[in-house]
Amino acid sequence: MERMRELCDILNKWAYEYYVLDNPSVPDREYDRLYDELKELERETGVVYPDSPTRRVGGEPVKGFSRHAHIARLYSLDKAVTEDELGAFFTRVFKVDPSARFTVEYKYDGLTVCLTYEKGLFVRATTRGNGVEGEDVTAQLLPVHSFPLKISYQGTLEVRGEAVIRLSVLEKYNREHPDDTLKNARNAAAGAVRNLDPSATASRGVEVFFYDVNYMSENPVSTQTEAMEFLKREGFATYPYFKICNSPEEVYAAIDEIDAGRRNIDVLTDGAVVKVNDEHVRAEMGYTDKFPRWAIAYKFEAEEAETTVERVLWQVGRTGKLTPLAEIDPVDLAGATVRRATLNNYGDLTRKDVKVGSRVLVRRSNEVIPEILAAVSHPAGSVPVQKPTVCPACGSPVLEVGANLFCTNEQCPPRIVQKLTHYCSKNAMDIEGMSEATLELLYETRNVRNFSDLYALTAASFEGLAGFKEKKVNNLLSAIEKSKNVPLDRFLYAIGIGQIGRVASKDLAAYGSVANIAALTYDELVSLENIGEVTAHLILDYFADPRNVEELKRLEERGVTPFVKARVLEGIFQGENVVLTGSLSSMPRSEAQRRIEEMGGTAQSSVTSKTTLVIAGEAAGSKLDKAKKLGIKVIGEEEFLAMLSNSNKEA
Ligand SMILES: [Zn+2]
Repeated sequence: MERMRELCDILNKWAYEYYVLDNPSVPDREYDRLYDELKELERETGVVYPDSPTRRVGGEPVKGFSRHAHIARLYSLDKAVTEDELGAFFTRVFKVDPSARFTVEYKYDGLTVCLTYEKGLFVRATTRGNGVEGEDVTAQLLPVHSFPLKISYQGTLEVRGEAVIRLSVLEKYNREHPDDTLKNARNAAAGAVRNLDPSATASRGVEVFFYDVNYMSENPVSTQTEAMEFLKREGFATYPYFKICNSPEEVYAAIDEIDAGRRNIDVLTDGAVVKVNDEHVRAEMGYTDKFPRWAIAYKFEAEEAETTVERVLWQVGRTGKLTPLAEIDPVDLAGATVRRATLNNYGDLTRKDVKVGSRVLVRRSNEVIPEILAAVSHPAGSVPVQKPTVCPACGSPVLEVGANLFCTNEQCPPRIVQKLTHYCSKNAMDIEGMSEATLELLYETRNVRNFSDLYALTAASFEGLAGFKEKKVNNLLSAIEKSKNVPLDRFLYAIGIGQIGRVASKDLAAYGSVANIAALTYDELVSLENIGEVTAHLILDYFADPRNVEELKRLEERGVTPFVKARVLEGIFQGENVVLTGSLSSMPRSEAQRRIEEMGGTAQSSVTSKTTLVIAGEAAGSKLDKAKKLGIKVIGEEEFLAMLSNSNKEA
């Protein structure tokens, strides 16, 4: 029994280091070894301690959720979306005490949960529900390691946290489940917690971050600072951002900092929460029937809105895939008017049950096409979207493969235009100014069909085309000329061999030339890290098609000679796995990443145990904290620029 107690304590400590501090002190197998020993002892003795880590496994699926009343009501927060509204809040606070102080923290966008402890032990987890009672999700949250099963506080306690799924975890899930992609981290987190199969919650990567003490039977904390200190001390995972502010100016600065950094943190954040930190001010201001008067949520510009689907069009992509595109009643989202939103593919449209006339939820996030997340309701008169049987662009039969519909005509006009557009795009051949509209025009009027046709264009080709003045034509022609000399990986990506992405293109480019790649066997292809069986076959098919071989030859004859950068091997970032966080004042992030890669480094999107260098710009967020925690070397923008210019001198 003593050994079991000891094992529980050691394993809980390691799990805390791993999950909450994100700073493991022992290898996984060491944890597994002691875990197995504990499990075996529990089996022999029939005794399981209430805080045993073996309890943290998903149980059997349940039939439904039972409801449970919270000890103290979980209030929601009053909202402000303008600085004026926030100003009014400060005025109300200062009427009570002009020297009141505030705290500012993230407003994570997930599912609020409430955890109850009695006599030092975790007893129950519930959703917030209507604030008075919620659904019991104890079995679902047990396998989530963001909170302790045993704490030192012996009274009755309720703490409040936000269940979230990290954006990187969501991305990974979507990569691994192409037929069941989750569009939105908030819905994904809510769906994973409110899941009748408790083992699904942890396996989808749910984490909980705690930010409030809702009820304490003895010695209650009285300020937000004390609440956060209490949560940390007892081993709860807490929000990484917490600031104490002495004035409205400091609050505004903290909000700006959160707003600037929130694109770079791995958790969906839709605002900042401002709370009065002084107990007597809180007590005097009290509550309305909905929320505390001493706290407010400052919400950033909406990125989601409800609107009506007016029409659904089908767009043909470069692979022939038909993508449903909804024309919507225009809505303002994150500072732009949105008129169209994508539905990804036919399967997505049917799964979300979107009809013409449906009310839908549209989301616009950074630099991505706005997207329909879900249908909200189907007012009378809504009609289902007709499934196309022929291509809307060329009338050829449509082929259904999984969730997708494809036009079967390889010469389908929009398909060719999309292929050319992809070829000219920034990450491919980077032919500046060669837009989709221009390529469509060249397709229709100048018979441009193949990539190689672009290199036969002359000034005369543009004569008589509206809007093509001499300067513009010259710019286009020199951009085309410049593209003859590109790195091999970008060329491979541009011509779309086997529809490979940029990462797989780099794998292939290591073989030095198109001829070498064409000679690779199936076994050699699948042995590459980022190439699977399907892609390997597509690559082989590509080179087996005489039309492609001919096109490659024509490109070569017209002077397109991709090169492999030898000097990359001695680049200053050689062997470094680099993460950028915050914003750089001297260049956009994409350019910084490109330069790091040109000099031999690998640009990563998030800090992992493999990261060797972090470049921290303005308003660097949680990645910086993590890097510091893991002891990874961190440099600032100036040092980064110095590295770039030094290495230019050498080269
Ligand atoms: Zn077609």
